[in-house]
Amino acid sequence: MSSDREYDVIVIGGGHAGCEAALASARMGRSTLLVTLSRASIATMPCNCSIGGPAKGIVVREIDALGGQMGITSDATTTHIRMLNTAKGPAVQCLRAQCDKSLYHRHMLDAIENQPNLEVLEDEVVGLLTEEAGGRRQETGSKGQESGFRIQDSAGPIRILGIITRLNGEVAAKAVVLTTGTFLRGLMHSGDVKTVGGRVDEDASYPLSEALKALGFDLGRFKTGTPPRVAKESVDYSKAEEQQSDPQPLWFSFTAEPLERPGLLSNWLTFTNEATHEVIRRNLHLSAMYGGHIEGIGPRYCPSIEDKVVRFPHHDRHNVFLEQEGWDTNSIYVQGMSTSLPAEVQVEYLHTMPGLEEAVMLRPGYAVEYDVVFPQQLYPTLETKRVGGLFTAGQINGTSGYEEAAGQGLVAGINAARLAWGEPPMVLRRDESYIGVMIDDLVTKGVNEPYRLLTSRAERRMLLRHDNADLRLTAIGREVGLVDDTRWGLFEARRDWIAGEERHLFSTVVTPTAAVLAWLAERGQPPMAQPTTLGDLLKRNGLSYHDICDLERVVPGNARELPAFRPQSSDVETLSVSIKYSGYIERERLEASRQKGMEDRAIPPDIDYTAIRGLSNEGIHNLGAVRPLTVGQASRIPGLTPADISVLLVVLDARGRAAAQA
Ligand code: FAD
Repeated sequence: MSSDREYDVIVIGGGHAGCEAALASARMGRSTLLVTLSRASIATMPCNCSIGGPAKGIVVREIDALGGQMGITSDATTTHIRMLNTAKGPAVQCLRAQCDKSLYHRHMLDAIENQPNLEVLEDEVVGLLTEEAGGRRQETGSKGQESGFRIQDSAGPIRILGIITRLNGEVAAKAVVLTTGTFLRGLMHSGDVKTVGGRVDEDASYPLSEALKALGFDLGRFKTGTPPRVAKESVDYSKAEEQQSDPQPLWFSFTAEPLERPGLLSNWLTFTNEATHEVIRRNLHLSAMYGGHIEGIGPRYCPSIEDKVVRFPHHDRHNVFLEQEGWDTNSIYVQGMSTSLPAEVQVEYLHTMPGLEEAVMLRPGYAVEYDVVFPQQLYPTLETKRVGGLFTAGQINGTSGYEEAAGQGLVAGINAARLAWGEPPMVLRRDESYIGVMIDDLVTKGVNEPYRLLTSRAERRMLLRHDNADLRLTAIGREVGLVDDTRWGLFEARRDWIAGEERHLFSTVVTPTAAVLAWLAERGQPPMAQPTTLGDLLKRNGLSYHDICDLERVVPGNARELPAFRPQSSDVETLSVSIKYSGYIERERLEASRQKGMEDRAIPPDIDYTAIRGLSNEGIHNLGAVRPLTVGQASRIPGLTPADISVLLVVLDARGRAAAQA
């Protein structure tokens, strides 16, 4: 690292957001510096060791489709994997993997260390270098010795110039991505014991938080927590229910070769009971959360065990999954028991649960609170409105979860890289990705508690399936320069096979001959009254693509040469879903395209909402606060009425006419 150099992009933070941002920028050819407090904790999983799950699994596929890293690293380190929601429709199916934590870190570190254009610096960023628009670039006095802040008094636009680090002084960059996770003024809690830090054994970052405040950012305080870990050999597995990994090979990455994986690990299910709840209720006053020691707001969808016992008193038990954290560790993650109770209380309640009576606690659970940047201060590109060229991504934006962080990191990294070379930004739409849904929610609606992606947040779930993430996004990844020739070749072969096979199925007509009727009867299918295409037959319940291929063999004259491409189960899945659910998919596509005009209609960023007559007071305030870039985004701002949107459309029409006449 040379502190005299100017980088195209600097990424602050080596968590899940930072890794994706830095890799994206470097893979796009930009000189990139990743600054992190500790190289040893790059891509650490401080909570559970799982990647994916409802909605999140689809995000991992989207990251992969765009050319990101999370899916590849997860595939390379998987210890357990399952397809979730198989009894439900294809819109909500998704993968959830568990990974070997230490291997996950090493695999990601390898990817980063072997990435051309990417350097890693172990240091603390203590300030941000900025300038007012049109101002001259300022130099600091003593590089490498002092840290300090360039605080801007002016209300005018501000631009990022670089960072100030504790040990290496100033480093210049055209764009900076901030992904500091749970570290800004991080404070850990276990009972009434408070320890400064972003995670166990890791320091917090205080000066950077002050620098953001000094730049005028509105910061909030959130919290999250993690459960205790117990020793593998101290669990009595005979009293818990084993959950094996799915037997068929499953993978996140569209580039993966689906081979059998030997040595996958099991989970075990046990439950809390009345005795567990009694210990928790009796000690509630000792919990950091209930004892009033924590001011931060916690995640509603990932509550602590104290929260569960208090909020659901009628539940006589809660699920507790025992998950192995890797092949070479004896650490078991006690999922469902996140807590800020003192360590001795954690031991007491663990011993009330079947299988854990003799459990040895390796590490107590704890809670951590930290500063967040309220995300309404960002554009959908994840660039801050206050400081041009400064992007934020991940937990700092008020989200919770590795996948949410990685998805934002990828978008921020792409846009920082594009900004550095003067290219227009990339914004993902709500109807093309969960990442787009998440970012739009964050920047438009803001957050008042840690945000987690849920399938229910997306309006177009049939379009945003896990199986078709590449068909939605790989062309975008190619356009921005993240999809290399190998991946693009794999993608084209798969896309063309699906399209060609669909054409074949809908252009091949089967007549109800005796052989065909017998074939249908053998499978308990009603007879055909008239000639029907293979595609229409595939729409029938109980008939799979493989059945249709079998039927082709009994149809005279239909023998065909098999294409060179050998479809995998994932290709067949995408083809089958798109045919069987074509009605629902088409309906969502039509609705999306009907709204597209409104969705994409641009709003000038300089519009003065206070001068628009007819807008409600709340409309003026909220439009001014969010400064939406499109009418679609404006329509989702909380508190905006349909009347406000109509007024806005009238104003935009009038401006459009005036511009045309000028
Ligand atoms: P992080 O992974 O936190 O990475 C931040 C990075 O920034 C680190 O590399 C750090 O070194 C670096 N950094 C910070 N400040 C500076 C600085 N000034 N200079 C240089 N580098 C800096 N998520 C869930 O979904 N469910 C949970 O139950 C859950 N529980 C959690 C429990 C705990 C105790 C913790 C700590 C986190 C938990 N999370 C949970 C959150 C999850 O860890 C994050 O969502 C995810 O890791 C966020 O990724 P990130 O990249 O935004 O930040």
